[in-house]
Amino acid sequence: MSDLNTQHLAFKQQLFDHKLLFGSGVNGIVGRSSKIVELVAALHGMVDKESVKDGAQKVAFPPVVPRELLRTVGYMNNFPQLSGSIHSFSGDDRQHLALQETVKNGEDWSPHLSQTDVTLTPASCYPLYPTLAGNLPEGGALFDLNCYCFRHEPSNDPARLMSFEIRENVRAGSPEEVQKWRHSWLDRGHNLLESLGLSVVLDTASDPFFGRGGRMMKASQKELELKFELLVDIWGKDNPTACASFNYHQDHFSHLFGIHLADGADAHTACLGFGIDRLVIALLKTHGFDMNAWPASVREKLAL
Ligand code: 5GP
Ligand code: ZN
Repeated sequence: MSDLNTQHLAFKQQLFDHKLLFGSGVNGIVGRSSKIVELVAALHGMVDKESVKDGAQKVAFPPVVPRELLRTVGYMNNFPQLSGSIHSFSGDDRQHLALQETVKNGEDWSPHLSQTDVTLTPASCYPLYPTLAGNLPEGGALFDLNCYCFRHEPSNDPARLMSFEIRENVRAGSPEEVQKWRHSWLDRGHNLLESLGLSVVLDTASDPFFGRGGRMMKASQKELELKFELLVDIWGKDNPTACASFNYHQDHFSHLFGIHLADGADAHTACLGFGIDRLVIALLKTHGFDMNAWPASVREKLAL
């Protein structure tokens, strides 16, 4: 077992032993104690203070999206390995008996189910884009969203969950407006995480595009600097963890959903995402399990 894996397992066990998080028996699915619920609210409060300065408009979607949305955005081409399909039973009494038999025998019951019209949400921003179809107001628009997101990547790393919150802001506007917004957030985000006493570096990054074709997508995303990440030292400097990301989509979503500027030109979009559950782990690993004993500056920043 690698050193890193040993660290992951040991720290996760400590989180469970301290009753900060509750295990579920499945890697990547954890419950939060009241202390962690409080910390998550504090992290949202901190982001609130920043995004409100820009006049971001809050929007909320549930943690499921229409299945067709994933087709439209190309999710099954790019990230099929992360997808979270939702299936259900729609058979008759006879088929129900067969299903129950399968369940009783401890067998795989998926052959008895069929796909529903929804899938689990992979990123908080996806359900927003279709709602922006048409012309944006003068100066574009800015939204603030939070959602539990699902990605099928079970892991021993407590900072890599299958179900986790991504707090996002999404900017839509002219290329200049959108780039300026994203650029300003690189510094703001960096300062925010540093003010939490975390060891942070900014770097270009790429999404985990699937397979051989995906390698080219990753390379071009990096070359064009379409994705930046704030990497936090949770497990040692050689294995930094992305705790926030800043993505520039150019006119990708605008083409798919017909999002235009006030003058009718194609809009551009960008989003930023704070990995709330990752920040929780980063803070606990950096400052210890007793939140009352954290540095005063950190507690103050979080209004704890
Ligand atoms: P992205 O859409 O850039 O992949 O993810 C946005 C943010 O969500 C990341 O910067 C990271 O903080 C968080 N995130 C991504 N994957 C995971 C994960 O597997 N577990 C957790 N807890 N957070 C994640
Ligand atoms: Zn996004």
